[in-house]
Parts: sequence; C-alpha cells; structure tokens
Amino acid sequence: MHFSSTRDKLGNRVGASEAIVAGLAPDGGLYVPGEFPRLGDFVGKPYDEIAFGVLRLFLTDFSGEELRKQIHAAYDGCLPVKSNGGYLELFHGRTSAFKDVALQLFPHLLTSALAKNGVRQTAVVLVATSGDTGSAVLAGMADVPGTRAIVFYPENGVSRTQRLQMTTRAGANLHVFGIKGNFDDAQTAVKNIFEDKVFRAEFADKYVFTSANSINLGRLLPQIAYYFHAYSELVRKGEIEGGDEINFVVPTGNFGNILAGWYAKKTGLPVGKLVCATNSNNVLYDFIKTGVYNKNRAFQTTISPSMDILVSSNLERLVYDAGGCGAVVAAYTSLRETGLFKYEQLPDTFDADFATDEETMETIRRVYHDDGTVLDPHTAVGKCVCEKYKQRTGDDTRTVVLATASPHKFAETVGRALGCGCVPGETPDNLRDLETKPVLHGGVTDDIGEEIRNVLNKNR
Ligand SMILES: *Cc1c(COP(=O)(O)O)cnc(C)c1O
Repeated sequence: MHFSSTRDKLGNRVGASEAIVAGLAPDGGLYVPGEFPRLGDFVGKPYDEIAFGVLRLFLTDFSGEELRKQIHAAYDGCLPVKSNGGYLELFHGRTSAFKDVALQLFPHLLTSALAKNGVRQTAVVLVATSGDTGSAVLAGMADVPGTRAIVFYPENGVSRTQRLQMTTRAGANLHVFGIKGNFDDAQTAVKNIFEDKVFRAEFADKYVFTSANSINLGRLLPQIAYYFHAYSELVRKGEIEGGDEINFVVPTGNFGNILAGWYAKKTGLPVGKLVCATNSNNVLYDFIKTGVYNKNRAFQTTISPSMDILVSSNLERLVYDAGGCGAVVAAYTSLRETGLFKYEQLPDTFDADFATDEETMETIRRVYHDDGTVLDPHTAVGKCVCEKYKQRTGDDTRTVVLATASPHKFAETVGRALGCGCVPGETPDNLRDLETKPVLHGGVTDDIGEEIRNVLNKNR
C-alpha cells in the first residue's frame, strides 16, 4: 500500500510509516491511501481483531505481529468503544473523549514508524487542540522515549475539565501552552511551522516535527475500525441483517471522525448516509448543502467547544476523493486567497444539519427525561441533528449517533441543561482527582513559533 499527497499532481508515493512520521506532506497536502482494499469477515469479531483487520490493509510496512502487539498495548483493559442502543460510545478511554481511540494507539505506531525510517532525532509532536486532542495526546505520549509533545489550546475556548486535564498532566517530555486566539489560529500556526523549511532546518540535527492531529494518517486509520464494530454489534444483536445499509450521524469539527466513516464505506462497510452534525459554526453544513465553503464569518464560542472550527482540515481528503488533485489545488488556493471555495461534486452519501446551543441544551434535557441517557453537548448536537434528519427525509434506515465525549467532561454545561447543577451517574476515575492535582503547565503565548524554539533550545 502506498500513500500520496492530496496536492501532488505527480503522485509521489510514500509508505505508511513514512507518512506517519511526516504527518503533513511536504507540499502542505494530506496523505491519502492509494487504494481501498475491502475488509473481509468482521461480523462477530472482537474489537482488537477488527482493528487489526483494518490496519493491516493500510499499514503494510508494519508486520502482523507488530500490529497485534501495538493494538493489544493500546486497548487491553481500556477499550474506549462501547455500542449502546442507538449510540456508538467512544468515550470510555483514558481522557473520556473519542480522540482516545486513535491516540492510545498512535504513540506505538509513531515510535515504530520512526525506527523503520531510521530516524535518530527526537520526534516533536506539535498539536493544535480545541480541547480533547490535547489531553489525549498528553495521556498517550507521557514519557514515551524519543518523543516530545508540544500542545497549544485556545485559552478561552476549552472547558474547565479539558484545561485541567492538560495542565495537570505529568511527563518530562510534555509542554502545554494556552494561546490568545481560537482553534483555527492554533491550527494555522502549527501548519505554517510544518511548511517552514527554514524553521525545521534550524533543528534538523536533533529534531523531526510531526503531528498528532487527524491530518496524520496514524490518527485517522484507527478510527475506521469502530464503524465496522458498530455494524458488527447490530448484526450480532439481530437488529439488522448482514448486508443491510446503516447511517451514521457524526458530531463534526475537523472532519476526521466522519472521514473515517467514509473510509469505512470505501473499505466495504454498507453505509447509507453519513450525516455531518455541526454546532452554529456551521461552515460544513452550508458547504454540503450549497457547495460553497466560506470561512469568512464570525467564529462562535459554543457549548460544544471541540467542534468550534471554521477550517476543517480533513475535508481536503474528501475533495480529493471526489475531484482529485486538480480540485484540491483549485479549492485550497481559493480558500487561502479569498477565504472561500466552490465545489459541488461531493458524494451524495453526505448529508448535514446543525444544532444551536439552545437546541443542544434542550436535547440534553429531553433525552434525559425520555430515557435517562445523559448526553454530553457534542453528542447532543449529533442526537438533535439525527432527529432533524429523520424528520426532514423520512429515512427510516437504522441510524447510529456517534457519542464523542463523556458528559462528565462537560459537567458545567450538562448540569445547567438538566437544571440540577450536577451530572447523574458516576464520574470516571480519570476525571475525579483533577481539581486537587498540581498544575504543571501554565504558560500562555501569542507566538507559537517562539515558544517551540524556546522548548527545543532548552532541551538540546
Ligand atoms: C474532536 C471532537 C469532535 C470532532 O471530531 P472531528 O474529527 O474533529 O470532526 C467532536 N466531539 C468531540 C467530543 C471531540 O473531542
């Protein structure tokens, strides 16, 4: 299996491990698989077998034995995934958000990819986070030899729990900074560092830079597995028959999660619709409905902060699938120059809707009163959109809502929605002692490049 960049008209090929080490392609594009083999039998298999089946299709320069060992190390005793009625819960991992599914595995993939490529330098993982990626990266990478992680989060754009999860995380190789801007500012600054050859050369003797955001294939590919798992569970419980199509509603920010669903479909999963659910930062909703992607609008801080994004990186991979390099280069040149682009040939698998903060609060309240399920605000956006979609289309295909965070991670909002000031049910262990842990990282910066330089020079 080879991978090439979405922006490379020459189609230069790299192996999986090289793509994982690089994160972003040298031309600023994203690596995409050269083909999509079909996954064989998966129904009724345990999660790690499904994950193994998916990953071996793509990570062909990893040995089977290596992959099994890594999957085992990532998930044994702490599988983030649980199928629960109409929800696919992805928040039972180390930091209680769906990012754990990929990030419990990613450090293992990265360290062996570094070894395969003969990289002797320390790998510096640069992370822009809207809240959940940061804590999941820090939890996954603490004290992993040969690596250093530097995380930037919007100082005023994360929940109290999210902030404490990051600033209290111990690890000699971890660095965490708040930034004055929003997530898009952080992501753009980090992407610029990747594309800055002079900056990288300054540290090339000692460091290579990579990314643990979902632009990295090592983040994206492990997410395909849970779509197959959800399907397998529905067949096992007799709720669908093998071969039936099902829909997924995906709370969306950077378009990583839903893109993994698209890749699952391309790998043979019978998927009907993928419904993109956004909050009032509804750029993706407008794009899917009208074909115009327009980020020239006010950034809104909402109660679902992990979806407060106007530039969704992984959309580029979908545009590539639909229109190839030509469409990507045209679209992203236009986006850079004018803040918008037009592209109307998206696959009709995609549908979209959005929920305002009021609708999200109302959904949390109503679902709890209806059946006792406590939803976090991101999942509630998904649930609200699921209802809107069904009402609008009359589509009665079995539809699964991806539940992306534990309600305990957004306790203030959920408590307010329910009117009791608290979240029913037990707080997961990893969130319980946050208030009393020492704060280890407190920096706030408005110059990401300078901060990275300081960290790396200090640790030379
Ligand atoms: C990251 C995140 C999302 C958005 O996922 P993308 O892959 O960025 O689209 C949704 N909900 C939660 C809780 C998240 O942490």
